[in-house]
Amino acid sequence: MLYPWQQTLWQNWQQLLSQGRLHHAILLLAAKGSGREELAKQLAQTVLCQNCDTEPCGVCHSCQLFAAQTHPDFHHVAPLEEGKQIGVDAIRQCNRWAVETSQLAGQRVIMIEHADALGEAAANALLKTLEEPPSGCQFILTAQSLDSLLPTINSRCNKWRLAVPDEQETRRWVEKQMMQSVKLESVRLNGGAPLATQQFIEQGQDIRHGNLLEAFSRFLQPPFTGIYDIAALCTKEGIISLKWLSYFLVDCIKLQQGAAAHLVHRESLDKVQAVASQVTPAVLMTQVRKANELHKKLEKHTGLNEELLIVEWLTGFIAH
Ligand SMILES: [Zn+2]
Repeated sequence: MLYPWQQTLWQNWQQLLSQGRLHHAILLLAAKGSGREELAKQLAQTVLCQNCDTEPCGVCHSCQLFAAQTHPDFHHVAPLEEGKQIGVDAIRQCNRWAVETSQLAGQRVIMIEHADALGEAAANALLKTLEEPPSGCQFILTAQSLDSLLPTINSRCNKWRLAVPDEQETRRWVEKQMMQSVKLESVRLNGGAPLATQQFIEQGQDIRHGNLLEAFSRFLQPPFTGIYDIAALCTKEGIISLKWLSYFLVDCIKLQQGAAAHLVHRESLDKVQAVASQVTPAVLMTQVRKANELHKKLEKHTGLNEELLIVEWLTGFIAH
């Protein structure tokens, strides 16, 4: 099933499919939470479908196998865990699949999710296959953006960017799905991605985000008490909380600089104002940088004492 914001891109692909001109390696660039996996799978199923060239018929043997996730010509590779790399062994396996004969006398499809997580050795192993594509083999790669993708890979692919809808459209779509009103800041905290925003609310993160900001902005008023309560809230929520606080502090800086029109926290403006009038720009800047560094550190290394490190970061507000 496709989402409304995917229709235009899908129609472009359909046109290429109907003309038999789809490139052998498609790279789909899309934000997390925009349904890129669904879109990529729709393409895979269509390429494999035995009845129809431009959309999955849903009834042929191939479509049935695809729906049951047992299609022998569909190969799917992704990092074992979010944030981890795709290893070279997984790509060597892809290369073997690429030259195998189709079991259903049709095409083979190899889908590589998070191609931006290919390590250098893995990317190099893939290059040769992309350069000299075996016939009847369709590659579909997905990634968040070109930033962390090796240029050698992206230059051999046909790139397509799936844009997220504008924020009001995202908001309306999520409100319709959830039958409740949605804050603009929930949309903005999720980069405008509709499914990410929906999940944010479904999982109660919007409420916990609100509670954290409430406690944090109170903490940043003299006499700066409650540091352990905030550290506990952050630890409970996980490292995403550091991102939230970093966005919040950036908003405070923007407000101090008179750029109020570009704030993420539209509905928490009172809290942004309270902190912006209390904490100096120099401290805010330093603390944003340190929050981002700490986020990276915690993301990379497991087993660190998260709570202690957050307390240490928070004391950076008091030391001045
Ligand atoms: Zn079919």
